[in-house]
Amino acid sequence: MHLELLEVQRRVQGRIPLPWFELNADILTRHQAEARPLLRFEHIPLELSDLRLVVRQTADIMRRFGALEDADHQQVQALGRDMTLLDVIGRWYRAGAEKHAAPVGAGSPAEQHPAGSGMLDQVFTLAMRPFLSRCAQILQQRDELALWSHSHCALCGGEPDFSVITPAAERHLICGRCTLRWKFEPLTCPYCHNSDRSRITSFSTPDGQYRVYACDACSRYLKAYDGRRATRPVMPVVDSVATLPLDAAAMQRGYSG
Ligand SMILES: [Zn+2]
Ligand SMILES: [Zn+2]
Repeated sequence: MHLELLEVQRRVQGRIPLPWFELNADILTRHQAEARPLLRFEHIPLELSDLRLVVRQTADIMRRFGALEDADHQQVQALGRDMTLLDVIGRWYRAGAEKHAAPVGAGSPAEQHPAGSGMLDQVFTLAMRPFLSRCAQILQQRDELALWSHSHCALCGGEPDFSVITPAAERHLICGRCTLRWKFEPLTCPYCHNSDRSRITSFSTPDGQYRVYACDACSRYLKAYDGRRATRPVMPVVDSVATLPLDAAAMQRGYSG
């Protein structure tokens, strides 16, 4: 399923123009201070017909592999034909972007996810990946990214869902929405910021290729590809699937993803 999804995303991504958004040290410093991600929804180079196509194809593939119920599949298909798709996706994007940002003034509560958020969140995360990862390519190459020290994504505000240990033994988090990678404390939990090492449980696969960091404060865990002895770079989709047994091991110990 993941390979088919990847193929859909690749096909669309080839057609997406490079986005343009202003980026310099001042801007990043300001966003860092407010913990506010950089990318506004309006800056994403979204083409409605491509977006509709990738939403519908994603739902088809997920249903074929049993990852989506029939009723949910119909709901997504209808949404994929609907004129409101951009509004719905916009709300989804902003809800994720504002989740971790420091509140500016009082009021302005973050908008709620649309109904059935768990299922839609999954579909939208996959369908928006080609567009968002195109935007991430811009920031990824910039030195200013080093100014960002938060555990949520500097570009889109998403949470990390994988990580990589570099040959220099740094840990880089990988955003679950846009695939941006950024440096973060190797032994601090990115979900609750617990940095007490005695409350971080870490274990690896027998070959040492992958590692799990599990937090005993919030009970969540994050997988990592250990690039210190690796012969290839991290491949988030492939590595996520290859490490499904590690998820089972982490869950058996009472942690959740
Ligand atoms: Zn992101
Ligand atoms: Zn934690």
